[in-house]
Parts: sequence; structure tokens; C-alpha cells
Amino acid sequence: MAQQFDVVVIGSGPAGYIAAIKAAQLGLKSACIEKWLDKEGKTSLGGTCLNVGCIPSKALLESSEKYHQAHAELKDHGIEVSDPKIDIAKMLERKDKIVKQLTGGIGGLFKANGVTSIEGMGKLLANKQVEVTKHDGSVEVIEAKNVILAMGSVPVDIPPARQDGDIIVDSTGALEFTEVPKRLGVIGAGVIGLELGSVWGRLGAEVTILEAQEKFLFACDQQIAKDAFKTFTKKQGLDIKLGARVTGSEINGKEVTVMYQDAEGEKSQTFDKLVVCVGRRPFTEGCFSDDCGVDLDERGFVFVDDQCKTTVPGVYAIGDVVRGPMLAHKGMEEGMMVAELIAGHHAQTNYDAIPSVIYTHPEIAWVGKTEEELKSEGVKYKVGKMPFAAVGRAMAANDTTGMVKIIADEETDRLLGMHVFGLGAGEIIAQGVISLEFAASAEDLQLTCFAHPTMSEAVHDAALSVDGIALHIANPRKRK
Ligand code: FAD
Ligand code: AMP
Repeated sequence: MAQQFDVVVIGSGPAGYIAAIKAAQLGLKSACIEKWLDKEGKTSLGGTCLNVGCIPSKALLESSEKYHQAHAELKDHGIEVSDPKIDIAKMLERKDKIVKQLTGGIGGLFKANGVTSIEGMGKLLANKQVEVTKHDGSVEVIEAKNVILAMGSVPVDIPPARQDGDIIVDSTGALEFTEVPKRLGVIGAGVIGLELGSVWGRLGAEVTILEAQEKFLFACDQQIAKDAFKTFTKKQGLDIKLGARVTGSEINGKEVTVMYQDAEGEKSQTFDKLVVCVGRRPFTEGCFSDDCGVDLDERGFVFVDDQCKTTVPGVYAIGDVVRGPMLAHKGMEEGMMVAELIAGHHAQTNYDAIPSVIYTHPEIAWVGKTEEELKSEGVKYKVGKMPFAAVGRAMAANDTTGMVKIIADEETDRLLGMHVFGLGAGEIIAQGVISLEFAASAEDLQLTCFAHPTMSEAVHDAALSVDGIALHIANPRKRK
């Protein structure tokens, strides 16, 4: 007889593993199917995020930042380090160890919570049956009362820069370079392109980023995007070419020449390695039988409503395989929501309070609306800003770039958005997320006590500055 479960999750990325664990915690018999094999051919849980995404990229960002500090910043503190060297093999080994620890940890969490882990490729059939093709080729069909689709995403490939896995690679390849490329080209100045460009730039590569859009980080607050652009190009030496659309590439021996078009016409540039970071697309190939009943939208995402319900009752889809930002924590939120819904509870992800973080140095982080969005929606708002240049802790850290910007509704004072560029922005933004979740006003933050001296004090002064009553900078206007 076929194995039967209350919940079968396809995919063990952050969306899928959280859904499986939460469902088990709510008393549902749950299983999670995963096809990922590591370099040794063993099943590895955790999806893109743990294996080739969030975690390994942050491990390399940390290593490269430390190297950069040893080279360029410690001397400002009076610390002399003679000729620091980077051992790339050791840096990669450290990254791989963290990945192994975390992916193994998901297996441990499955055991602790009673989630059945199934190895192989899952395919949704009609009537909530799921076919699993094991790595040895054998096939099993399991039955589920509910199915959660969490197959995630894969990098987008573009015909002008076809990958050869050696000179032209995707983000996964750029986490594995065994030496620092002298000339590194990156296509796409999105989050992943900027992070990977920063890693290899800090280690000594000459980095050129070709970006088709004229506007830098168009989803981000544009004042912060401008400040960040200046910092990355002028201070950090990343050559970010905006309005540069890649049209072709040619590998010659050990180098690649990239053709691109900008406002001045056709141009080309030669690199030792080229990383294609032009976005990710949902992964659904081979995951559905023709009669399973699940619809995709026009961009290939699994079509879902606000509660991640697909067109088939009892079949849900979460994470990168559905609409919305392709972020691990967004998938995790959806995983928790769907498990609660299946258990018969009320649940709704708050899509208005999902933070975005770019882990450059300094980091860029935001939550809620930008000024540009509010203007186009015709919402009246007030803005408060606090530059880190006036924050004691930032000075002590020798890291005064950036600011906190808070946007509140002009009439109700309710917080609409928080935007941070600066040291630790990814941590600071949690305060904005909590404020939005709790429907806080700027005044709520004004009346809150912030530890001194911390970077977070900039949140306090930015909130005060919303009403022209900041205490550590001159106020542009008086309180009404
Ligand atoms: P995935 O993590 O893609 O997992 C899907 C899993 O499903 C995979 O393991 C896959 O093998 C499995 N699968 C697919 N189909 C089947 C099938 N039919 N049967 C069995 N198994 C299947 N996001 C952040 O929030 N913060 C970051 O700092 C960040 N950094 C990133 C850096 C890089 C370089 C990259 C590439 C991505 C980064 N992301 C980051 C994005 C983040 O990795 C994704 O948003 C997240 O992994 C999506 O989670 P998911 O569970 O939906 O899918
Ligand atoms: P993201 O979607 O955040 O990962 O960013 C991917 C970036 O790649 C976007 O900013 C796109 O504009 C950019 N992009 C896509 N195709 C090209 C191309 N052919 N040349 C240059 N940039 C591109």
C-alpha cells in the first residue's frame, strides 16, 4: 500500500523545510521530498539558500570583508598588519563546512520533529498523489491529504552569455572560484551581482558590472541607491556600468570578451571570468503530470492566491516558485502560514512587512514603502533622516557611511517604511519590520529608549526627525 501523509512537501529549501517542520509541530504527519545531491553524491537538504545561496555567499562576504579590513582599514585604528595574504582554498573550505553544518542540521530538525525525509524527485499527480523517482531510478507513489509545492528557483540563463561552467558561470560557479580572477565581469547589478562582485573585488579582482537598467537598484529608495552607487564605485572601485545591455560574448582560450550596448553604441570588454546574475526563475520542469490541475501564471510561477492556495484544493505553493520577492524569509513565512491553514487555523502572511537586505558593505536594507512608491500612490507622507556621520558608535567603528530614513503617514503618523544604508543595516531593519507589524507610529519610536552608543540610535533620531525634533542633528524644520 502507498505511504500516506497529511502533508507532503516537495522541496526542502527554506520554504519547504519550515512548512514540513511546522506541519509536524501542529500534529500533522508530514514528509519532505528532496532531490539535491551534494558534491559527494549525498542528499543535501536546505535548498538554494543553504547550499548555494544565502549562507555560502555570506560566508565569503565575511571572509573577504575581513581581508579587506586587514589590508585597508585596520591601520586607521593604529593596527599594523604586514602584507596580509588570502588562502582561497581555506576560505572555500570554511564556507563548505558551514554549509555542511547547516544542511545536516535540517536533517536533525526533521528527525527531532518527526518529519519523514524522502530522497528523490517529486512529481505531483492528480488527486494529490505524488510520484517519487529515487536516485537509483526506482519509483514510488505516495498519497497526501495536502501537498505543498516548494521547488524553488534556478538562475536565469541568457543566450548572449551562455555558460560553459568554467569561464562563464552563474552565482553557484562564482562561489567556487579557486583563485581571484584578475578581471571579473558580472552581468546584472541586482542583489546577487553586487554581493558576488563585492566578494571578489575585496579580494583584489578588477570588477566590472554591466547592468541593462539606467536606474541603480530601482526597487530601493532612490536617495539611498544614489549614495550606495557612489560608495560602491568611488570608494570601493566597482565599475558599475548602468544602461549597458549585454548582447553577446565570445570565449577565446582563457578569457571572454563581452559585447554590450549603451547610449554611445556597441562596446566590448574582456574578462578572465564572467558571472551571469540576471535573476532567477521558478523551477517546475518535470514536477507536474498533465492532469494534476495546477496552473502556472504567464511568467511560469505556480499560480496562487494570497494564502498560497493553488488552483487545486489541498495543494499549496510557497517560496520562490510563486509570485513575490525571491527571498528565503518570505518563503519561510509562507511555509508557516500554509501549515497553519492546513491545521485549520487562521493565518495570513503580512506581505507589507517583508524586509529586503543587500549584504554589501555597508549593507542596504529596507521594509515597507519607498518615497517613489508613495508619490505614485498619491499618499501624503513625512520623512525623517539620521546620517550615521552624526552617530557616535558609527564614528567609533570608523564606519560613518549612510543613514536611516523613516517615512510616516502625514496624517496618522503611522510608519510606512524604513530604509537603511550603513553598517549593520540588515540587523537594524528588524526594528522597522517590528514597527510595521505592530502598526507603530513615528511617535512610538520617538518615545522608545535606545541603548547608547549603538547604530540603532539613528533609528531614534530618524523617528524624531520625522517631526523636526531630532536631538543629534540640526532640524530642517520646527515642530508644528
Ligand atoms: P529553494 O531554496 O530553491 O529550494 C527548493 C528545493 O526544492 C531545492 O533544494 C530543490 O532541489 C528542491 N526541488 C525542486 N524540485 C524538486 C522536485 N521535483 N522534487 C524534489 N525536490 C525538488 N535570499 C535571502 O533571503 N537572503 C539572502 O541573503 C539570499 N542570498 C542569496 C544568494 C545567492 C547567491 C542566491 C542564488 C540566492 C540568495 N537568496 C537569498 C535567495 C534564496 O536563496 C531563495 O529565495 C530561497 O532559497 C528560496 O527558497 P525556496 O524554499 O522557495 O526554494
Ligand atoms: P535581480 O533580478 O535582482 O537578480 O537582478 C538582475 C539584474 O540583471 C537586473 O537588474 C536586470 O536589469 C539585469 N539584466 C538582465 N539582463 C541583462 C543583460 N542582458 N545585460 C545587462 N543586465 C541585465
